Amino acid sequence: MDEIIDRLRKVRKGAMFVVGAPSGTGKGTVIKEILKNDSNIKFSVSVTTRAPRVGEVEGVDYYFVTDEQYNEFLKQDAFYECVDSQYGSRYGTLRSEVDSFINVGQDVIFDMDWAGVRQLREKAGDDVVAIYLLPPSIRELRKRLEGRGTDTQEVIDKRMGIILDKISHWEEFDYVIVNVDLQETVTKIQKIISGERMRRVRQVGLKGFVRELVKEVEEEN
Ligand code: 5GP
Repeated sequence: MDEIIDRLRKVRKGAMFVVGAPSGTGKGTVIKEILKNDSNIKFSVSVTTRAPRVGEVEGVDYYFVTDEQYNEFLKQDAFYECVDSQYGSRYGTLRSEVDSFINVGQDVIFDMDWAGVRQLREKAGDDVVAIYLLPPSIRELRKRLEGRGTDTQEVIDKRMGIILDKISHWEEFDYVIVNVDLQETVTKIQKIISGERMRRVRQVGLKGFVRELVKEVEEEN
């Protein structure tokens, strides 16, 4: 029996959990909390051409690259998806980063915008579960962005200016959470993750498992 359970675990297909939100909604903190408490989910570290913010670590938060390096990735078709942001920076998800986890049954969590979700869905279909976080209010969002102290006033004004455009895509996500309380939001996402893991389509090892059950029944009769 242990052998069968072990085989089931091995052949589970990893899912892709995308968390999208306007900047300042607390998405980064929420993702960190999820990762801290669940060893079976890994963060997809994106490539970006933007400069690191204070405290950001190469290879942990992003792979920070030059425009030339980014163009090289494009040329090699190395991205699952990629976007040019309205702030002038470019972002991309490396196929190698994601596949190394998914193929061994580990789930992956992404920090990504709606344009990335669209591309990812085209390539990975049902493997993608998209969760959108909404801020409790626009006033609260500006307060959080200013309190964070990582962006200049000019960047904050720019971010606020395009928020409507970002929020208008909320219906493209599978789940939507208003992030009022950080811990509550984390708990809600953990519940989504455990529910999604139990979906029949993700438990690709079930076919073999059920076959074993049927064999057992036949042997008993
Ligand atoms: P930030 O520069 O604040 O870290 O991220 C800006 C925006 O880019 C956020 O909405 C974030 O979700 C999005 N983003 C970060 N990495 C990727 C990525 O690999 N692909 C896509 N499509 N968006 C990304």
